[in-house]
Amino acid sequence: MKYERGDYMKGKFYDILRGGGLKATKPRVAVLGVFSDDCRPMTAEEIFQKLLHEKIDLATVYRSLKSFEESGIVEIVNLHKDSIYYELSDHHHHHVICKKCGLVERLKECDIDASLKQIQKSVRNFKHITSHSLEFFGICKKCAD
Ligand SMILES: [Zn+2]
Ligand SMILES: [Zn+2]
Ligand SMILES: [Zn+2]
Repeated sequence: MKYERGDYMKGKFYDILRGGGLKATKPRVAVLGVFSDDCRPMTAEEIFQKLLHEKIDLATVYRSLKSFEESGIVEIVNLHKDSIYYELSDHHHHHVICKKCGLVERLKECDIDASLKQIQKSVRNFKHITSHSLEFFGICKKCAD
C-alpha cells in the first residue's frame, strides 16, 4: 500500500507506535518518518543525517531505533557490512546484496513457509520458530561487466 506524505502518513506513524506499545514522542515520530514502505535499509547515521533540520541528536536516533527493534517495528537487515541496517518490519521480505557495490534488491516472494515445517521438525531445542531473516549475496550485473 502506498501512502502520501502528510497528515495521513503522520497518522499512520502514530498507529504504528501505538501498535508497538510506544508513546508517540516527537523524536520517535521523526525517526519513523524517515523510513518508507519501499525497501531501503538504513543505518542510524543515515537517519541522523536526514533529521539534521529536526535537531535530533544521534544518541536519540539510536535510542528510538532500539525501542523500535524491541517492539518489533523495525528489524535489522544483515548486509554483511560494518554498520547495522534497519528497515520497517511490516512487509516481510528478503534481499539480494551485491558483494562489490552494496546494491540491494528486494525479493518479491518469501517461499520459506514450506521448508519452515521441516526446519521446525528438525530442531530439538525449540518449541516454536517465530520469525526468520535470510539474505542472499552475489555480484550485480553492473559489477560483473
Ligand atoms: Zn528490504
Ligand atoms: Zn554491484
Ligand atoms: Zn521470509
